[in-house]
Amino acid sequence: MPAPAPPAAPPAPAASGPRAHLIHIETDRRLGHEWDEWNGLPLPGGGDFSAPPGTFFRYGALTLALAAGAGWGALYLLLPRLAQVWGPLATGLEMAWGATVAAAWLWFGALGLSFASGKNLLPERWLERGPFLHLMNLTSLVARAFGRRDWVEHAAIDVYNTLAVRRGRTVGRGELLVLIPRCLSKLALDGVLSIAGRYDVPVFVATRGQLARRVIRERRPRAVVAVACERDMMTGLRDVAGKLPVLGLTMRLPNGPCRDAMLDLETMERWVQGWVRA
Ligand code: SF4
Repeated sequence: MPAPAPPAAPPAPAASGPRAHLIHIETDRRLGHEWDEWNGLPLPGGGDFSAPPGTFFRYGALTLALAAGAGWGALYLLLPRLAQVWGPLATGLEMAWGATVAAAWLWFGALGLSFASGKNLLPERWLERGPFLHLMNLTSLVARAFGRRDWVEHAAIDVYNTLAVRRGRTVGRGELLVLIPRCLSKLALDGVLSIAGRYDVPVFVATRGQLARRVIRERRPRAVVAVACERDMMTGLRDVAGKLPVLGLTMRLPNGPCRDAMLDLETMERWVQGWVRA
């Protein structure tokens, strides 16, 4: 007697329900330029660059200290010559730089306190959608010198998202846009389309940052949930977050950069649901 057939596996929950309409897709297998120097070896930690927020704050403090030191160094070299030209100019510059450095550290303290206290102490233009975007990019440059770029960027993006989510903004369903990269695995892509379908949110596959900026210009969303690796997300946030509210979901890269990327679908659904709650 033949053995009974095994029961069919239940469909994956992420793929059930309505599916979103894809606006545009380009299949491009090339490495993103952010990964030009990749040596082809597996990425550390299986492509998971998770790091605690303290990683960003430590490198952020180091970045501020280096910037302050560089400024003082330049003044040290310049001031004697400026004093020969006009004494008050040298004194004024010295005082201005001192005030700038003091203000930067005060702001950094407010950032840390905002993050730790659970209450944003400054308006978004003065916090995550303002100076923070510049600091996170400078911090990334410093982290590269220590070989910790991806981890520091991951921590910086987590801090940014925490502050941005706390604003509790909402938009209409048609006003939110989900931007995803071309490198998602099939499972992740199905999950994203399923979430977007449930909340009636358009999804755009952006093969390059330039294209992502173009679709934002053309569709004029009021908010964006963007998915990308840490490296691409840093550029995207720098270019877009100052003009438009954005939440940035980073990915895991178990098969190396630019292929079969995985993401946390629960977080994505929580964010999309939060935006379109109204
Ligand atoms: S988002 Fe994906 S395709 Fe774009 S650079 Fe990162 S890993 Fe590559």
